[in-house]
Amino acid sequence: MSRKPFIAGNWKLNLTGDEGSALITSLIAAAASSRAEVAVFPTALAVPAAVKAAAGSIIRVGVQNVHWEEKGAFTGEISASLAKAAGATHVLLGHSERRQYFGETDQTVNKRLKAVLAQGLVPILAIGETLAERDGGKLEEVLSRQVKGALEGFTAAQLSTLVLAYEPVWAIGTGRTATTAQAQEAHAFVRGVVRGIDGGLAERVRIQYGGSVKADNAKELLSQPDVDGALVGGASLKTADFAAILAAA
Ligand code: PEP
Repeated sequence: MSRKPFIAGNWKLNLTGDEGSALITSLIAAAASSRAEVAVFPTALAVPAAVKAAAGSIIRVGVQNVHWEEKGAFTGEISASLAKAAGATHVLLGHSERRQYFGETDQTVNKRLKAVLAQGLVPILAIGETLAERDGGKLEEVLSRQVKGALEGFTAAQLSTLVLAYEPVWAIGTGRTATTAQAQEAHAFVRGVVRGIDGGLAERVRIQYGGSVKADNAKELLSQPDVDGALVGGASLKTADFAAILAAA
């Protein structure tokens, strides 16, 4: 099955509304001529400006996380309904930085996913192993637990918009990329885990690769049969670098 490539830029804790708008404006032509679907994930504060800058283009805007409750006494949080009201269409869930620094677990990701799907937003669920887990022979166990834990209780129909992002933690922001063989092997394994949930979903679900994706390695990674796009951190902050990745797709 041919799956439309999907390139997403995770801006993390970077860029003001004005800076993000300028970056989006500079990317519109490259996005229009790419074969890929394109989304950027600014900070929540910069989302309204990004949505305005992206209006009329194919670039979509998402948030980097949401709380599972819609409203209430949850100081500092944002909800899926607020993200949607601000014009976001996508939500990043379970990024390793959230798991590592903010106590995110498969259970909390599962609750957040429920809130995201209830608002009709597109979830990008990030999964991936640490170096110690890989070296300890636990790659498959970790990926399987993360996918099954996050998706528990949902039907294939509910998950029809789901996007997965395989991001080996040791490759994020380190300049160290998984080899194409390592990426393809992990992606095929993850697709197999999804197949255990639903065969049709496994064929349709797009699995992005993330971890130091750059202009010079994107083409080879994206040529792998189970690599359906990229989740890009550092290289999504510069027009030339992100545009080159969009062209590689
Ligand atoms: C990320 O933030 O998801 C990521 C993959 O970052 P980088 O591309 O900088 O490694």
